[in-house]
Parts: sequence; C-alpha cells; structure tokens
Amino acid sequence: PVSESSPPLEPAAGDAALAARAHARPSISCVIPCRNEAGNLDLLLPRLLAVLEPLAPAWEVILVDDGSTDDTPQRLAAWTRRAGIRTVELSRNFGKEAALTAGLQAARGEVVVMLDADLQHEPELIPTLLEKWREGADSVYAVRSSRADESLFKRLGARGFYALVNAGDRVEIPPNAGDFRLMDRAVVEALLALPERNRFMKGLYAWVGFRAVAVPYMPAARAAGRTHFRPMRLVNFALDGLIGFSTWPLRLLTLTGFALALLAFGYGLFLVVEYLLHGHRVSGWTTIVVGIMFSAGLQLVSLGVVGEYVGRIFEEVKRRPLYIVKRRRGQGLGE
Ligand code: UDP
Ligand code: MG
Repeated sequence: PVSESSPPLEPAAGDAALAARAHARPSISCVIPCRNEAGNLDLLLPRLLAVLEPLAPAWEVILVDDGSTDDTPQRLAAWTRRAGIRTVELSRNFGKEAALTAGLQAARGEVVVMLDADLQHEPELIPTLLEKWREGADSVYAVRSSRADESLFKRLGARGFYALVNAGDRVEIPPNAGDFRLMDRAVVEALLALPERNRFMKGLYAWVGFRAVAVPYMPAARAAGRTHFRPMRLVNFALDGLIGFSTWPLRLLTLTGFALALLAFGYGLFLVVEYLLHGHRVSGWTTIVVGIMFSAGLQLVSLGVVGEYVGRIFEEVKRRPLYIVKRRRGQGLGE
C-alpha cells in the first residue's frame, strides 16, 4: 500500500515565489487562434493593446493563422510591423486546438493568456484574470455565467457532454469553461510536455491540475463573420473529448456484455427446467428474433466504440507533428 507519509508534492511556485506574486508585474503573452477573422483583427488588436500596455512591462501578442482563406494573413502581416506582435502561419487549417498549441509553443511570457479573435472574449477581462494569478492561482479560466444566448441544441448538448465526460473520472472538466484563460508559465510547460495528438484542450487543462480558479464572464456577440463550430463539428469535437478523456464507454460495454451473458444463462436454465417439467415444445419464435436482433445491434455498437478507440490509437502512433508552420513574422516585445 502507498504510505500515508509520502512527501507532499511541491506546489508550482514555492511559498516565497507565491508571496512575491502579489505585487508582480509579469510579462504577458497573448495567444489568439485566427481562422478567417479578417473583419475582427482591426477591432480586436487596438482594444487588446490598450489593455496590455499599462498592464505589463513587456508583452507579446501571438496570432496563429490557422489556414485562413480570406485576407487574414495580409492583415496580420501589416500588424506585425509593431514590436511585440508576432504571427505563426500554419500551412493549412489544423483546427483550433492545434492552433492554440502552436501559439503556446511560441509564447515566452511569464503568464500566457488565450483568447478568441472574434471579440467574444473581451480583452478588458484580462486584468481581472491577472489579479487572480497575483492571489495565487496558477490558471484562471473564464466561465460563461449563462448559456441563455445559445440554441437549445447547444445548451442540451453541453449539459450532456459534461455529464458524460465527467462521469466517474478523477479529472473533472469544469462545465462551461472555454479557452479564455490565463496560465502561469509552469502550467504552459506542463501542457506542452503532454505528447498526445488529440489536443482536446479543455481536457488537457484539467488533466495537468495546478491551482485553477474560475472567473465568471458573459461572452459578447461575435463581431464579424460566423462561428466555425457548426452542429456536426461540435458533435465531432465532443466525441474527441469523450474518447480522449475517459474509458468508461469501454467499461460500460464490458458490463453490458456481462449482464447479457447472465441473462442468457438464466434463460437457458429456465428452458431446460421447462423441458424437463413439460416436455419439448417448439415455441418462442419472437423471443429468438428479438434476442438475435438485440444482440446483433449491441455487437455493432460495441465494435463501433472499440473502433473509435483503435482509430485514436492509430492517430497517436503515426506520430505526425501537430501542425506545420509555413512562416513566422514579427519580433521583439511590446512595452
Ligand atoms: N478557429 C481556429 N481554427 C479553426 C476554427 C476556429 O483557429 O479551425 C478560431 C477562430 O478564428 C476563433 C476561435 O477559434 O478565434 C473560436 O472560433 P469560433 O468563434 O468560430 O467558435 P465559437 O466561439 O463559435 O465556439
Ligand atoms: Mg466565437
């Protein structure tokens, strides 16, 4: 058995470092994934810089162009003439999770803030996030205070997703927290050290642990353009999370298999006894057909679930890079 007296794990920052945080003015990196956000950048960046400049002695904004097909790259290139604004252009669309990872990899700040490019995550909340970091939190995440602005499909879907993914697991993914968050350098290093290719970030944040604190916020409306997460993509996204962060679907199948086997055994016993008591009778056609169809359906579903996991294993063992960088622009730090 594990001894009760094993030494406590070192906190991310030692006590002295924690005390020093209270008045610290850390350098800040902002990571912003952009896919076809040309209409938003000229609104977002002035607002963001107005927040960053008085807040941090040194800052940088890392904009990751995730294979945009509009003139987002040109807009970004123009912005990189300012010191502190940098871009990472990916060679194609790799998805938001990969773009975030690319941005985190490029970030050098003592704290890193991630936010969306569409102004739904208002930069004016960043000082509040930083205040929580000063109070000792290693990661501060913004939680939607209400989903009333969303469709019934999204609301029910979100509720179901969090119930399923958090069912009986050690790692609790906080419901309604998105990618709007501030992280200490230690948390960023921990995230980047995770080798998997399924970058379901909500799960990864929860998995690495550290002291996490929630800050309520109400997302603003998207400034320009439209959402990239249409219903089918959300369903796929949720499946990635579910398969990547729990194995209970497999466990459930095993248990169902056991239950069915028990049932079949009991029924067999019943048939034998009935034969001995009442002699042979050919009947029960309905039972047979229903039984066969039910078990065939269950086997197909089980095969599908196992296939989902095997597919993820296939993705992982290929060991392809998470993203490919086409070009980087910009340099220096903002002050
Ligand atoms: N995004 C991205 N790659 C994608 C899809 C989205 O980098 O393949 C970015 C997008 O530009 C935005 C953020 O991820 O900055 C959130 O996307 P969106 O606003 O469409 O999602 P929603 O807010 O509707 O969940
Ligand atoms: Mg959005």
